[in-house]
Amino acid sequence: MENNLVIYNSLTRKKEVFTSIVPGHVGMYVCGPTVYGDPHLGHARPAITFDILFRYLEHLGYKVRYVRNITDVGHLEADSDDGEDKIEKKARLEKLEPMEVVQFYTDRYHDFMDKLNVKKPSIEPRASGHIIEQLQIVDRIMNEGYAYESDGSVYFDVVKYNEKYNYGELSGRVLEDLLNTTRELEGQTEKKNSVDFALWKKASPEHIMRWPSKYSDGFPGWHLECSAMSTKYLGEQFDIHGGGMDLLFPHHECEIAQSTVANGKKPVRYWMHNNMITINGQKMGKSLGNFITLEEFFTGSHKLLDRAYSPMTIRFFILQAHYRSTVDFSNEALQAAEKGYRRLMDGLKSIEKIKAGNASSFNVKEWHDKCYEAMNDDLNSPVLIAHLFEGVKHINNIVAGKESITADDLKLFRETMELFSFGILGLIEEETAGSDDKLSDVVNLLLNLRMEAKANKDWATADKIRNELQQLGFVIKDTKDGFEWELKQ
Ligand code: ZN
Repeated sequence: MENNLVIYNSLTRKKEVFTSIVPGHVGMYVCGPTVYGDPHLGHARPAITFDILFRYLEHLGYKVRYVRNITDVGHLEADSDDGEDKIEKKARLEKLEPMEVVQFYTDRYHDFMDKLNVKKPSIEPRASGHIIEQLQIVDRIMNEGYAYESDGSVYFDVVKYNEKYNYGELSGRVLEDLLNTTRELEGQTEKKNSVDFALWKKASPEHIMRWPSKYSDGFPGWHLECSAMSTKYLGEQFDIHGGGMDLLFPHHECEIAQSTVANGKKPVRYWMHNNMITINGQKMGKSLGNFITLEEFFTGSHKLLDRAYSPMTIRFFILQAHYRSTVDFSNEALQAAEKGYRRLMDGLKSIEKIKAGNASSFNVKEWHDKCYEAMNDDLNSPVLIAHLFEGVKHINNIVAGKESITADDLKLFRETMELFSFGILGLIEEETAGSDDKLSDVVNLLLNLRMEAKANKDWATADKIRNELQQLGFVIKDTKDGFEWELKQ
């Protein structure tokens, strides 16, 4: 078991060697979706990022308990303590029961995560199923004196917390600045300080999702669910907490404050955050008209898309960037990713047919170690993909007779290519519409024969293959690694 995993900890702002609290076991919590709309790219990125971490930790031999929640109550419109509940609003507009909205979009989320080959978490708890646990945390924070009741609602006293602890340790924000810049909005007069956040909100008469409590008939504040569910399933202290960078403040900062007071200890060892997605250089947003759902990507039914892109193209594209970098989506970039994905899959098919020789023309063990080094370096998937492409180059050269490999090396080479492409990056071979797949096998076969002919200086055969394929409408390009082709439509 190779285990030199280093991850960037958002809390210490440093790369750190990963060690688990309980040897051999990892507890990991990732903030899941608020299920009030169709899954989009913003859902795909954290799901895929923490999917490769989940896969890699398991590969390293850890038993991983991966908890990814479903937010189905308490997430208000403005991501703050005001506005309508996002799910309730959708239910009102569609004349549905809120739990119908939750069920519909949870099912949609699962369908699309399956398409993207994202592994299911070990536990997927819902906020609405953990109201008792959330109220227990409210009580504990009240007993510790860090919360106060105001007209049936309960607020966390951030100013008092900051006297003993450091509110802002994760986000780097400074309380004084926050106090100066946060305005008291209308209806916030219940709070002692503008920065205080709701643990429990009294429900207005028209509010549907409500539960009885000793404070009021109401509902939990959005941040509370993650403290309650992570504590319940992973304990008072656990290894990894992940989520999108947009959740770092206030959501995760508030979660630390709640759990620290309720449990008397820091909840999380390593905080990890994936960066955001932009579309043609712009932030993705409903108001900007560039909000593209996964369904629209897979069918090509959005005005910004030239055509459809398959789930594996999207997955490969996301993995081509490091999770802490932004990813910019454009048609050109997606088409390049599609080619890259195909090239890797073609290489994985060709490696099956390679025959071993007497000597190896490259150092397979060294290449294998570099693949691990890339993953160990804070999940550096773009560097790993570069190594896999180097592998494809060797495969094509061996097929063309320009390189060779021994039987032992071939075994390691094949296992490593397959492990990282399928097992760790989670790619799957996508059928390119039935007969097309057979067709591409045949074209690759011919072009590999042409490479062999060229290697043997049999120019007549090489030219004949190229010319006749071109007449059939194939565009063939010689590259330094071999060839690329496409069918002109
Ligand atoms: Zn959360």
